[in-house]
Amino acid sequence: MALLPLIRLFPLYAGDGWLPSYLVSDIGIVHLHFQLPEFLRSSRRQKNGAAEEANRVLKRILIVEDNELHLRLLNDLLKVHGYEILKTEYGQEAVKLARDNSPDLILMDIKLPDLSGLEVTRLLKQDDQTKCIPIIAVTAFAMRGDEGKALESGCDGYISKPIMIPSFLHTVQRFLSP
Ligand code: MN
Repeated sequence: MALLPLIRLFPLYAGDGWLPSYLVSDIGIVHLHFQLPEFLRSSRRQKNGAAEEANRVLKRILIVEDNELHLRLLNDLLKVHGYEILKTEYGQEAVKLARDNSPDLILMDIKLPDLSGLEVTRLLKQDDQTKCIPIIAVTAFAMRGDEGKALESGCDGYISKPIMIPSFLHTVQRFLSP
């Protein structure tokens, strides 16, 4: 079994512009049909400002992932499902982004160029400002032992790569529901 899913970009017209959808080979063909939600088309959240922050509609997800293809897949998949996305490929930057932006959820790759995702998780869970943010480890399918290590390091859950899109979205929604 290939470690990386074969991902093909397939443009789809969504009424307001062209957006990507995906065919993912190793889980069969998944064809995503979607429409941009009205609130995504008509409003853009302004950065900073307490009022905007309090009235924030979109759930904000921080993606920490150094594989470009996987990052793009997660980014586009979550964006078209109405989430606001922050992203980085570096552990140090992930800590800073989490502190500065208070995401509602963090998707954490384990192997990163600087810190490991496990180290980043420990740092975030030791910090009062970020310890309540749920963290889902996204682990390579071949690295079975990583799942236990992820939970020991403070991750709230884990997902194996390559992701299965329906169950992935279900897991994300579960961690975001109040
Ligand atoms: Mn990685």
